[in-house]
Formats: sequence, C-alpha cells, structure tokens
Amino acid sequence: MLKPLQQWCCDSCGGIIDGPADGCIEWNVEQRTQRVSGHRIVHQSPECTYRSIELATMWKTPAQVALNPHTGHTHLANMLGLLHDMVASGWVDAEDEQGFVEVMRRTQLPYYEEARLFWNVSLQASVHDGTKYDEQTLLHILQWKESELMAGLEALQRRRVASPF
Ligand SMILES: [Zn+2]
Repeated sequence: MLKPLQQWCCDSCGGIIDGPADGCIEWNVEQRTQRVSGHRIVHQSPECTYRSIELATMWKTPAQVALNPHTGHTHLANMLGLLHDMVASGWVDAEDEQGFVEVMRRTQLPYYEEARLFWNVSLQASVHDGTKYDEQTLLHILQWKESELMAGLEALQRRRVASPF
C-alpha cells in the first residue's frame, strides 16, 4: 500500500516516488498565451520531468513546484497561485482544469493516490458513487480492493486444490 501523502506513482515512468523529496509537480506554459496544461506528478529527475527542448518546439516552457509538504504551506500557496494564474489567463478546456484538480487531490487528500487506481472499477462495483473524496470513502475503496484481492487469492487456491495436478 502506498504511504498516504508520502508516496506517489510517477506519471512519466510509472514507478513509485518514494517520499516528497524524490518528486515534483510539473506542468507547461504556452509562451504566447500563458496557458498552463499538462499537470502531472513525476520523479525529480531528468529522465522523468518534461524536456525543455521538446517543449520549446511547441512554444511551451516547463514549470514545477516541489512535492515536499514539510516546507509549511508553501506547496498549497504555490498551487493556489497557479490556480489564480490559470483563471486569469482563462480556462481553455475542461481537461486542463481536471489535470490541475487531480494533482491537487493527489497531493492534499490522504489515500487518494492509491484509491484513484481503483476508482473506476470500484465505481462499477457500486463501492462508492464517484462524487465523494473524503477520507472515509477513500479508505472504503482501499478496503474493498483488499477484500477483492483476498477473495481472488482464495478462489485461486481452491482451484489449485481441486486441480488433479
Ligand atoms: Zn519516474
């Protein structure tokens, strides 16, 4: 299980970001319009962050803030400042807004980072209604996932016992 607000899945390589110091939140800014998009959480390393040279060919500049919450409320302050800039330059499409909100949830809500991986499958199983993000709902999703895993393992074992091999 991922440690809440301490570990994240890297949006670039898919590996685990083991601690806030290993990761960052990044996005890119369109030079002409100042429009921001492409929010994601990645390892703080040249292999995983946006490449300035590639973005430059699209007239975009990368930007990032640290993931470290131990710097007081700096992170939240930075993100709210970014939100202000995004609103000021105009929401261009819903996708940009969703990307920003998703990153906020992943960095502010305990258990969301892991629960989001099982969000749709647990929604289909009516474990939650897809509208709530409180700690109780998120923990409920994780507990459901654990019990589904256990049930799956038991079924596998039963099949092994029943098998003639
Ligand atoms: Zn990575």
